[in-house]
Amino acid sequence: MVSKKDLKYIRDDFNDIDKEYRKIEQEIWGLEENPIVKKYLGLQAKKNKLAPKRKELYRLMKNGEYENCGHLWGISMDEYGEYDYVCVKCGLNYKSLRLTNRGKEDSLSFDERVMASFLKEQSFVNDADINTVCDRELAMALYKKIREYHPDIDDKTVIKYFEIALDDIRNIEVSDERKKSRAKRLGLSKDFNRWK
Ligand SMILES: [Zn+2]
Repeated sequence: MVSKKDLKYIRDDFNDIDKEYRKIEQEIWGLEENPIVKKYLGLQAKKNKLAPKRKELYRLMKNGEYENCGHLWGISMDEYGEYDYVCVKCGLNYKSLRLTNRGKEDSLSFDERVMASFLKEQSFVNDADINTVCDRELAMALYKKIREYHPDIDDKTVIKYFEIALDDIRNIEVSDERKKSRAKRLGLSKDFNRWK
């Protein structure tokens, strides 16, 4: 139980803080009359109103994309050093679901949560179409480039081209300068270094 003496100290502390709190509150109310701040608050409110609809549409859009993709599965290693199936077309991958199943959902971004909840309803992939382990970003970039040059070939041929391109990247030594321009051509960041 709090003694009367302690209660007096607590009350004094509260009164000090309360005074400061109210002063700040008054200042905030004052600022809200400022046209720029008014505009800021108005925009925030509009943004907050759009946010749930935007999220819901994003979820529907992604689910639709995943359902209609006709996945082409490759294997990559995620940043935790675990092998992962990754669709080189749409980027769908199992990291998000793995983390969710381990109770680490809090560490996922909204996009990753959408992915995890989609995958939860699907049967697990246990066979890759491309059997060479390759970084996810690189695999997606290679797929995109091949499709750009050959929009009409079937997936089997894409896989063949993919494997040839990856073999060349891995077996032909090039200077750092060439690696940078290759990364740029593929739309990767210029210091991309997960070629192997
Ligand atoms: Zn896909």
